[in-house]
Amino acid sequence: MDDESAGASTLTPAPKRAAVLCAQIEDEIISANLGSGHLLGSESELSQRYDVSKAVVREAVRLLEHRRAAVAKRGRNGGIFVLASARDMAISLVCNYIDFAGVSTRELNELRGPLEVLAVERAAEHIDDDDITKLRALLRTSRGGGRPWLNMHRALVAASKNPALDVLLGAILDSIWKRVPVGIIAPKGTDDDHTAIVEAIIAGRAADAAVLMREHLNTLARQTTRGTVTTPRPMAKLPARLAEAIAREIHSGGHVPGDVLGSEADLLEQHGVSRGVLREAVRILEHHGVAAMHRGPGGGLVVGRMSSARAAQAVRRYLDMMDIPSGSLSEVRNAIELATVEYATMRLSDQDRKTLLQHLEFEDAERSDQLEIGYQFHRVLSRMTDNRAIELLADVLSSVQGARVSEKGDPGALLDAMHRAHGRIAQAMLDGDVAVARRRMTRHLQDGVDPLVGPSRSTGGSAA
Ligand SMILES: [Zn+2]
Ligand SMILES: [Zn+2]
Repeated sequence: MDDESAGASTLTPAPKRAAVLCAQIEDEIISANLGSGHLLGSESELSQRYDVSKAVVREAVRLLEHRRAAVAKRGRNGGIFVLASARDMAISLVCNYIDFAGVSTRELNELRGPLEVLAVERAAEHIDDDDITKLRALLRTSRGGGRPWLNMHRALVAASKNPALDVLLGAILDSIWKRVPVGIIAPKGTDDDHTAIVEAIIAGRAADAAVLMREHLNTLARQTTRGTVTTPRPMAKLPARLAEAIAREIHSGGHVPGDVLGSEADLLEQHGVSRGVLREAVRILEHHGVAAMHRGPGGGLVVGRMSSARAAQAVRRYLDMMDIPSGSLSEVRNAIELATVEYATMRLSDQDRKTLLQHLEFEDAERSDQLEIGYQFHRVLSRMTDNRAIELLADVLSSVQGARVSEKGDPGALLDAMHRAHGRIAQAMLDGDVAVARRRMTRHLQDGVDPLVGPSRSTGGSAA
């Protein structure tokens, strides 16, 4: 009783339930592939369908509006309407994680490289006449930089015809784009680079396209890896901008989960905004698990433990809905595993060396009958990359595959072969030999001796 200060609870209608409802509506849009303009229903219809109060519906809709996922229209033909497609919704949830978890431009660029190279290799195989028309038109209109830069890279990903790459790399490109300062022009030679890449793809020269893309990205990275400053999107409303500002403060201040950022009164004074704006910003932060307002003595805005589970769940739903072939998933997964072993080897600390050896001992002792143990080795490696974008995508893909892969072959023999392969990869890492580590990882992935999947999770469950 005491720890709930009188006025606050009545002014804040059940923020947690609104966040849950918001996630339910997002899932509904993704699973049913609802398009922009689809009427979800009136406020009272949603309140009945989800068995919550109208106040909770209103708050959930406001969270959806901040992300431009849905919009409430008043009047005779009013109601709650979908704004974003299922694909855009999945992308925006991954972008939200990237932004609110404070993933840096360095981390994004490190993952972008291997995925964009994979995209042009696949595009050289799968490109069709429509893509060719589109890419050539973009080459004509994109001269001089600006937003067409993003459109060109997006079009190349689309031409790869891989929905997993489309949604995951799409989110990374969007996140990088948001950080490019307004008004910046594309580096010299960009148009020529794009032309050469597109022509190599059209000619079916996959290896050339890959080399050209790698060189192009090196040029870009030299010009855009300046800090982790996120330029606020011009269309974001004040509460969303405030939420992002507080999230940046959490990351730049080195705060850890459990830290108290200040009371509501402190934050009002610090940011010079109205109580209504602050509370809405806090709801956005709570929705993403960045921070939560704790009431009562010793309370205040407390830094939370952010989880990528929500983003992973949205992508999993989207890929299930798209019913993509497992080969498309594996090729993205393999690109990420190679980036993982490369960065983990480059950044192997003394503690990582111990962890690696301990994990191999654990695997040796425990591998008798659990297939999931193979995945744990790869997860241990992804934690050594010092790259949360890599960690996030590896988690997302293993959870997607987890729902699909079943046991195959003789588990005992598979697990022995897997354990030997892991030992050889680890040895190359301990030797600091990136090339050999990558080569052994490639062979390990080709052998397919461990299914690389995470714990299978129930499809209906909420973020764990
Ligand atoms: Zn480019
Ligand atoms: Zn393995």
